[in-house]
Amino acid sequence: MKDIKITIDSPDIVRWPETDFRVCVSISNTAKDHQDIFIKEIGIWAGGVILGSAAVGRKLPSIAEGVAVARTLIEKPYYQKKKLLRFLNNSICSFTFDINLKAVKPDLSYGDNFKLVATVSVIKDGKEERLDVSREVVYYQALQKLPGWVAGDPHVHTRYSDALPWCTVKRQALACKKAGFDWVIITDHDDLLDPIAYARERLQCRAAEKMFDIAVLLGEEVTTTGGDVLVYGAGRYISRWEGSSQKTGQELIDELRFSKGVCFLAHPFRCDIFGDHRWKEWHVSGYTGLEILNGRCSEQKALEAWDWLAWERDDWKETGEQRWVGIGGSDAHHLFGIGRKFTFVFTDGSKSHSSIINALRSGYAVASNGPLVDFTVKGKHLGETVTLHQGERIFLAVRWLQGQRLDRLRVVMNGRAILEIDDITFHNSNSIQIPITIQDPGFIRIEAEEGNKVAYTNPIFFT
Ligand SMILES: [Zn+2]
Repeated sequence: MKDIKITIDSPDIVRWPETDFRVCVSISNTAKDHQDIFIKEIGIWAGGVILGSAAVGRKLPSIAEGVAVARTLIEKPYYQKKKLLRFLNNSICSFTFDINLKAVKPDLSYGDNFKLVATVSVIKDGKEERLDVSREVVYYQALQKLPGWVAGDPHVHTRYSDALPWCTVKRQALACKKAGFDWVIITDHDDLLDPIAYARERLQCRAAEKMFDIAVLLGEEVTTTGGDVLVYGAGRYISRWEGSSQKTGQELIDELRFSKGVCFLAHPFRCDIFGDHRWKEWHVSGYTGLEILNGRCSEQKALEAWDWLAWERDDWKETGEQRWVGIGGSDAHHLFGIGRKFTFVFTDGSKSHSSIINALRSGYAVASNGPLVDFTVKGKHLGETVTLHQGERIFLAVRWLQGQRLDRLRVVMNGRAILEIDDITFHNSNSIQIPITIQDPGFIRIEAEEGNKVAYTNPIFFT
């Protein structure tokens, strides 16, 4: 039955000590002939075991009818969008199930992969049909961190971005907590927010923070003429509009500097079926950095641009101040996606909002989808500057997590890989001293690989 859309929303990573998580199955009737469907029953399975079911017995009207209405509402302020929410609530039928992986496999081990299957029985034109969709969930060990480091996701959306009713701040914060994170920044799109919705969302962040013992910061993703910008620490709602014209990238950056916020270019090379989200105004200055890892696109070009900014662009050599911090975020608009890409920051263990923002601002951060590596040069940390004389021989003091299997370590200097070490953990250690001779000013950063997982440190700069 092609007129029915079923989605299954669940985290794709569950980490020890958590074994339970929530799944939301939603059904929408996309029939263009505007015919109702009848949903009879819904069930959720894994490994041949039924984990939950519900007899629904609900008639679901076609969503097609309301799409025209939704289109007229999408540009309206938030309070009018409540109508849109109500409409979606009526034409999308969603059910949540609490699932425990131990019920599927009592002796869980790390790396176990589960295929969740949702089955839905529907009746249309008197004919009954059973449909299913599936999603994979992997069970991992707890997220490991070096002392003083905290992990988090600086790019997470909620219902304020898509108006999907179940995707609340609370659920996203809980999913982040279960992914092993210490902090999360909620970054909904500016067009579906307004000052009132923003204030309300801030209260929801505070409530979630208390409830789950995870720092929940409120940021935003603002669409300028240059592209999408992630905004943190502004302390108020920021709109893309200046009167009736859309702000340019530079206008937004200047506004942010005024309110002591920080901003990052989001997914600067994303171009897919959902649209062209590439950053278009590379001449702008004064922003904090860019998203080098994004859960919804590949990142090779973003890495190249990052190196290009730090090396080919000459501004920093003149001012000495231009640094571009690289971060990683999931950009999850649902429960799935959370945990795919994230950022480690060094805050000396603090989870205060200001220490997290400061670490992101200073570049004491590592973008990752699993491993963590850190390095120092002459006692200076990531994001800092070391003064050297030409031809000086230095040591990169690299360290990583005890017991972490690193397959490769790559030293990148001024945008070029100058050294690659394979099978780095053969000597069963968690640190290494790498000698390097510095001829020119510039920067060094390190990339680490563990299977298909990567970590990109921010650079240390040399003058
Ligand atoms: Zn986003």
